[in-house]
Amino acid sequence: MNLPEMFGCQVFNKRVMKHRLPSRIYDALQSTIKTGAPLQLDVANEIANAMKDWAIELGATHYTHWFQPMTGITAEKHDSFISPDGKGNIIMEFSGKELVKGESDASSFPSGGIRATFEARGYTAWDPSSFAFVKEGSLYIPTAFCSYGGEALDNKTPLLRSMQAIDKSSRRMLELLGHKDVKRVIPNVGAEQEYFIIDKNVYLQREDLIYTGRTLFGAKPPKGQELDDQYYGQLKPKIIEYMKDLDEELWRLGVSAKTKHNEVAPAQHEMAPVFATANVATDHNQLTMEIMKKVADRHGLVCLLHEKPFEGINGSGKHNNWSLSVKNGGNLLSPGKCPEKNLTFLVFLSAVIKAVDEYEDLLRISVASAGNDHRLGADEAPPAIVSMYLGSDMVDLLEDISSGKNYHGHERGMMDLGVKQIPKFKQDNTDRNRTSPFAFTGNKFELRMPGSSASIAGCNTVLNTIVAKELDEFYDELKNSKNLSEDIYKLVGKTYREHSRIVYEGNGYSNEWKEEASRRGLHNLPTTPDALSKMLEPKNIEVFSKYGVYSKAELSARHEIFMDNYCQVLAIEGLTMVSMVRRKILPAVLHYEEELTRLVKNKKELGLVAQPEHEILEKIAELTTALYTKLHTLEEELENRKNHDRTNEKGQYYKNVILGGMNALRETVDTLETLLPADLWPVPTLAQIIYSVI
Ligand code: ADP
Ligand code: MG
Repeated sequence: MNLPEMFGCQVFNKRVMKHRLPSRIYDALQSTIKTGAPLQLDVANEIANAMKDWAIELGATHYTHWFQPMTGITAEKHDSFISPDGKGNIIMEFSGKELVKGESDASSFPSGGIRATFEARGYTAWDPSSFAFVKEGSLYIPTAFCSYGGEALDNKTPLLRSMQAIDKSSRRMLELLGHKDVKRVIPNVGAEQEYFIIDKNVYLQREDLIYTGRTLFGAKPPKGQELDDQYYGQLKPKIIEYMKDLDEELWRLGVSAKTKHNEVAPAQHEMAPVFATANVATDHNQLTMEIMKKVADRHGLVCLLHEKPFEGINGSGKHNNWSLSVKNGGNLLSPGKCPEKNLTFLVFLSAVIKAVDEYEDLLRISVASAGNDHRLGADEAPPAIVSMYLGSDMVDLLEDISSGKNYHGHERGMMDLGVKQIPKFKQDNTDRNRTSPFAFTGNKFELRMPGSSASIAGCNTVLNTIVAKELDEFYDELKNSKNLSEDIYKLVGKTYREHSRIVYEGNGYSNEWKEEASRRGLHNLPTTPDALSKMLEPKNIEVFSKYGVYSKAELSARHEIFMDNYCQVLAIEGLTMVSMVRRKILPAVLHYEEELTRLVKNKKELGLVAQPEHEILEKIAELTTALYTKLHTLEEELENRKNHDRTNEKGQYYKNVILGGMNALRETVDTLETLLPADLWPVPTLAQIIYSVI
């Protein structure tokens, strides 16, 4: 099969729809996709039937409503198409009702108390804007997931709501700016996905990797990424095979995998797709993560999506490239050749600047997780402080506008600012600073904070919502303007003056920036509990409820779920560590200690000098005591976690006490690893793991 034929061959996409649906039905579906208008039952029935026939031809026997609960991963429950015909045979059936709506037991999915009161049922509702597909013998129908009362229990629903908000606010603004008949404004997203690939046999020997996705101890390997010989380096044969398979599987599912290369750390790689509508990009990213793991397994490999599988070595993130575009039209964040005259661009850029400054905490919260806490603020990843990078051309331009410098007046609605010569805006200029958490990269913004395992629904929901809010505020300021372009320049200038504290062009990894950011009054929220403590601030509740993205109840529920998740992750890590130390590491250390003791004793009995052996023994004995004490402390701290159950206080307990206890224990284990004979160390070392694929 050639590539154009292969691409999307398992997807019920427009081409298939056009081919298989009567034109009346096709048109009705397209209008539902565009406007969200409900489908008539007869239309839904015909679509369902066509989907079923198509899926069966591709080998499907089941269908599933595929959804994204707040666990961060996807969920699915499969029903077969079979239906008894009453004569002992079966027919294959799939109705419009089954396509459009599903019912499932929601009680085992996180709801943050939303659903607990009286109704355990949850509903899944077809999202026709994301294509159905066939995978592993089932027809997958992308759906939203909500409670009986209609509250969102998933990541897709709020994202779709936020897309409606940004669409509406952008169109209203565009209309004011003279762009008539804009049908839709769409947030586009391209998510670059980083991941590690290691050997399965090595993986299976580390409980911590199996249960937590990261190594909970391990001394730093002698060679990490110091030589920079991995980034964009030659791919190993096994990795080439893996990536080829991965690409093909993704292409079949309509995911436009585009770029692949080695990343900075040993065993680390990256895949980037071509950008798509935020909603589709989110679904595709979830699929990508799943397929990455499955394909690895087939190759005797394991794909690690954890943000920090190995301490001392770069972690993995997910760069979320975000822009706004007019359907079938231009990119609203594209500056064009003369950004100083591009009022549309200036308005949208200013809205993003103001949004990020006012809601930096929400952006930080949207990427908060126990895993990402190990990465943000480390030397390799953006800081936990949100700031934005615009590039010197753009900063110069905004500074000129805000200071009114070289202002010559205006002619017929177009101001000649006489800004410094920007003969041709150089996109390259914008992508120099890789240390910024949120960088303008020519015609899009790149949020570099999300963790590699995160759903990108969260950060895009925030971006869409907060930018919608600022566009509406701008609209109110401009709607009665007598001289629109003049007032726009004034607004752009004022916005920059008031919000330029969020703009930082320097090294985001440096300590000076931490100090400078604090002087500027920007948040520094290094951990998940710190970030979550800001989530329910009145301004945050207000902006989400104003746009119907999250009600107050939904937001509080999420707050609780995120904190619970954080604590559960730490508890599992703590318990895994205890188990590994008690059952593997401590016995190995005691064994070595016993050997040494015997050796010293024997040598002394023979009248030989046993000085070196004695010194080693003393050191090991001392570390054994430390190991045991710290193990015992962590066990107690884990036991006491049950006494801390109030959301915010609980987070602090886990962060300070449990994580503190784990770090202390790790230090001793890692020292012991460097002292014990290699063949006595009971688990593969970090070096053995990261160099396991040859
Ligand atoms: P890199 O960041 O590695 O230099 P690019 O910036 O070209 O690579 O692209 C990275 C990601 O950004 C890709 O997924 C790409 O499809 C996506 N992207 C490119 N243009 C846009 C856009 N206008 N809106 C959203 N995403 C985009
Ligand atoms: Mg990029």
